[in-house]
Amino acid sequence: MPFKAPRGTVDIMPVEQGYWRYVEGVAAQVCRLYGYQRIDTPIFEETSLFARSVGESTDIVEKEMYSFQDRGGGGLTLRPEGTAAICRAYLEHGMHNLPQPVRLHYLGPIFRYERPQAGRYRQHQQLGCEAIGEQDAAVDVEIVNLAWRFLHRLGLGNLVLYLNSVGCPRCRPGYLVVLKDHYEPHLASLCPECRTRFHRNPLRLLDCKKDSCQPVADGAPPMLDYLCDSCAPHFQVVREGLEMLGIPFQSNHRLVRGLDYYTKTVFEIQPGGGGAQSTIAGGGRYDGLIEELGGRPTPGVGFATGIERIILNLKSQGVALPNPHASPIFVAYLGEAARRDALKLLEDLRQGGIAAVSAFGDRSLKAQLRQANALGVSHTLILGEEELKTGTVLLRTMAQGKQERVPREAVLSVAREGSLPLRGD
Ligand SMILES: [Zn+2]
Ligand SMILES: [Zn+2]
Repeated sequence: MPFKAPRGTVDIMPVEQGYWRYVEGVAAQVCRLYGYQRIDTPIFEETSLFARSVGESTDIVEKEMYSFQDRGGGGLTLRPEGTAAICRAYLEHGMHNLPQPVRLHYLGPIFRYERPQAGRYRQHQQLGCEAIGEQDAAVDVEIVNLAWRFLHRLGLGNLVLYLNSVGCPRCRPGYLVVLKDHYEPHLASLCPECRTRFHRNPLRLLDCKKDSCQPVADGAPPMLDYLCDSCAPHFQVVREGLEMLGIPFQSNHRLVRGLDYYTKTVFEIQPGGGGAQSTIAGGGRYDGLIEELGGRPTPGVGFATGIERIILNLKSQGVALPNPHASPIFVAYLGEAARRDALKLLEDLRQGGIAAVSAFGDRSLKAQLRQANALGVSHTLILGEEELKTGTVLLRTMAQGKQERVPREAVLSVAREGSLPLRGD
């Protein structure tokens, strides 16, 4: 085979598309209910946007970005996450003049050079929601709630919500001193990445998945004990809001997320009993991000979720799609005159809103019916000499192999009335 899809990418085959349409449809519904309007930004941005927002010393910026020079010499990067571009657009379009918070959602591909594994790809499709311009902890509750309800409305169950606060520029530096004091005596036993993190990005020490680092990370002092008089009550309001809405959560002091821009609330949703790579949705507050990008101090909070991982979980939990067997009507024919007439019948069906296909070519009726079976259609309409003469068609119910002759003009009206399961939708 001379060519394959690039490593870490997949073709979304027609047989998979039902899942995609389903997830995208539910996403659109839920975003509408919560007032999050759709925005689409380019799939590439100036490289410096991500270095500034995501953070120079994060794995994403150091190792995972698809960066390139275009013919004008500018440094561009295929977006490795969604929030930075949304904030860039917020600034560029003066959205601070709109009623705040501005509620936006996006759906599109994200690119990261990562080691491919189940549910993790170098190009994946991401749904994200962002609420920008309001610091009230009620907006954090809204975002967590939105993520939680979205996943449940899809039919997913057995989900666990993990919650933490990573503080703010006022309280985090003090905490990092305490954290480093805790880690320092154990440096020799840590993995090489953690020894680097200790100096460059100590908060990420808590995030390490390597066995060697678990005891030290588990025993680390929790950030929650060091929150300032702005962050502590904020976190309290988030907890109370979630409790009021009946959303169960677990505090997890090791949850920090892999991006530098988070402040205060961070959260992740995982399937119960899932492994390290199992996060389905995650997000948090990023009150310093817009200022970092050159705007006035503007708070924001959001979450993102990977559609591939959602579909993986829909399958593993056996969630049935609504109407998974929608299939077109197959039109088969016998003889040259009927073959010409089939074109007309196919088009009449489609104009009537009924999906219809034919095999065409010089196939025997038997071969055509075999193909109809292979396509999984429920009904076939058969045209032959007799049918042409009498203005009828043979309606074959594939499952039973039962055939009945019906007036041709009746086919459409009968199908429309729904007394035959001819409609695909
Ligand atoms: Zn603080
Ligand atoms: Zn480590």
